[in-house]
Amino acid sequence: MTVNLLDFDAAGLRAFFAEHGEKPFRARQVLRWMHRSGQDDFDAMTDIAKSLREKLRGMASVIAPAIVSDTLSDDGTRKFLFDVGGGNAIETVFIPEDERGTLCISTQAGCALDCSFCSTGKQGFNRNLTVAEIIGQLWQANRILGADPSAERIISNVVLMGMGEPLANFENTVTALRLMLDDNAYGLSRRRVTVSTSGLVPVMDRLADECAVALAVSLHAANDKLRDELVPINRKYPLHELMAACNRYLLKAPRDFVTFEYVMLDGVNDSAAQAGELLALTRDVPCKFNLIPFNPFPGSPYRCSPAPRIRRFAEILMEAGVVTTTRKTRGDDIAAACGQLAGQVLDKTRRITRRTIELHEVRT
Ligand code: SAH
Ligand code: SF4
Repeated sequence: MTVNLLDFDAAGLRAFFAEHGEKPFRARQVLRWMHRSGQDDFDAMTDIAKSLREKLRGMASVIAPAIVSDTLSDDGTRKFLFDVGGGNAIETVFIPEDERGTLCISTQAGCALDCSFCSTGKQGFNRNLTVAEIIGQLWQANRILGADPSAERIISNVVLMGMGEPLANFENTVTALRLMLDDNAYGLSRRRVTVSTSGLVPVMDRLADECAVALAVSLHAANDKLRDELVPINRKYPLHELMAACNRYLLKAPRDFVTFEYVMLDGVNDSAAQAGELLALTRDVPCKFNLIPFNPFPGSPYRCSPAPRIRRFAEILMEAGVVTTTRKTRGDDIAAACGQLAGQVLDKTRRITRRTIELHEVRT
């Protein structure tokens, strides 16, 4: 069994090289080859002594998760499905926009937090992704998009909004974040890397201390009674603690606002009165809102709010001076692509795959 070098950030790789009597600058060269050039073959790392290349071949490897499928929709959104073994599939979505390209990546296979409107949550928790599996999504997407001359944009932004709760897989997530920010790896600005959390308050503080990047918080309700039901982790970290944690985070954050995500559930959290309640709750937190039309999945008890009600909700927030965006819903062509995708994947991963795709539709 060789060591997968995609599991290391710069410090980890230096330590691994030191253990084997190799100098720090060699570790940096290899880091750059792997992440800046997308190279997984030691023999192609031409400025490294042949003897070291041979040594590396004997004890190490560069292995990202295997791509199961790659689907392009009419609007340019591109979905990569990765097999992470044991019947687990994860999905990564590339969203090209005018000024930027955003990659949405996963941090866990499944999720233990069981939010009532989330298909990943309903699937239960399978396991944490390794660093190589988290950063490997970016590594693979970069290689593929870089190699494709028709690709509209390269990746300028990363959001940890795929499957799983990033802060419940803290160590691996932070190591992967360090690689995203490292100039010898992906060199992304802290402002362009966003962690989305359902509100693990103590871990938000750790993130602020260890690797402050932009923050999105999945709010979905403006009072504890409703949020306890929708986002069960709220019973442990209720709203007043969460709001205080957001303000503490902002003291160290690269941006001067938190993005609150709010899924629009018909008749549950979408009334004008609830928009008012939301404004009152967040009055002392510099924030923006991102309204997400609910994406239904089989067996879910909710429906998406009708478009006029989402618009009204957004207007109330905006009239109060809070920047509010509403996420686009899926186009028909994506649904078609999705059906094709589900038909192509491995038997073992089919069930999970469908759910993953359904979850991600809404983010496109
Ligand atoms: N676990 C993290 C990040 C992954 S979920 C979190 O909860 O923030 C990313 C976003 O998608 C969250 O805001 C989540 O609440 C939302 N989401 C989950 N299921 C959804 C669904 N069926 N429809 C719309 N948004 C959903
Ligand atoms: Fe987990 Fe986020 Fe889904 Fe909640 S919304 S179950 S925290 S992935």
